[in-house]
Amino acid sequence: MRLTIIGCSGSLPGPQSPASCYLVEADGFTLLIDLGSGALGPLQRYQDLHDIDAIFLSHLHPDHCFDLCGYWIVRTYYARPGQTKIPVYGPGGTADRMAQAYGLDPDPGMRETFDFQPHCLEPCDIGPFRVTTARMNHPIETYGFRVEHNGKVLAYSGDTGECDALVELARDADVFLCEACWYEQPDLPPDMHLTGRTAGEHAARAGAKKLVLTHLLPWNDAARTLTEAKASGFRGDIEIAQHGVSYDLG
Ligand SMILES: [Zn+2]
Ligand SMILES: [Zn+2]
Repeated sequence: MRLTIIGCSGSLPGPQSPASCYLVEADGFTLLIDLGSGALGPLQRYQDLHDIDAIFLSHLHPDHCFDLCGYWIVRTYYARPGQTKIPVYGPGGTADRMAQAYGLDPDPGMRETFDFQPHCLEPCDIGPFRVTTARMNHPIETYGFRVEHNGKVLAYSGDTGECDALVELARDADVFLCEACWYEQPDLPPDMHLTGRTAGEHAARAGAKKLVLTHLLPWNDAARTLTEAKASGFRGDIEIAQHGVSYDLG
């Protein structure tokens, strides 16, 4: 299983990276996790847009889903002969929201191009991957994912505040891709985002092997977030996500 970070900028695209988008590949199957603002352009440097097999949307904030609009154009007007609908797994209301984002009538909206599906709440098989989905702690309906292949585990937080379900999702993960949107400071709003420290605490409780901090705001100092994470007590590897970097999980 191979993870490539297409977009890791938090809440909006930044000068060095689009907003959230992660490419996960194994056995010739390509899964895209989130398709946030700005991601569709640089994605084309790493992936033929016609060869994506499934899409997961963690939630419907624009930094996680709005480039599905551009992707709809690709698969609707520049379809390859024999192309089939691909599944788009998302929270409730995804099909209507994406139709509205593009200014389409809700019926059919994008349904003739994408097969919109609710997230599986029991572990399910998507291509070669076993995927476990859990509800996260964010102001709108948001999911995190655990993707397993050949005994290796990738976990992704989506956007979340502190959350026991995230610890379970990331249990013994080889790579734990966890948001660290904010710096530590007094009176942070609850139930919205993590910091380097709280991401590190979740990774330590989960027994994750490697923590990759993502969704930093574009103007944040990554070194400060890294320092906060190292002070959390997590003893595994810690890195800051960067656009274009790949991880081979084996
Ligand atoms: Zn976000
Ligand atoms: Zn969000």
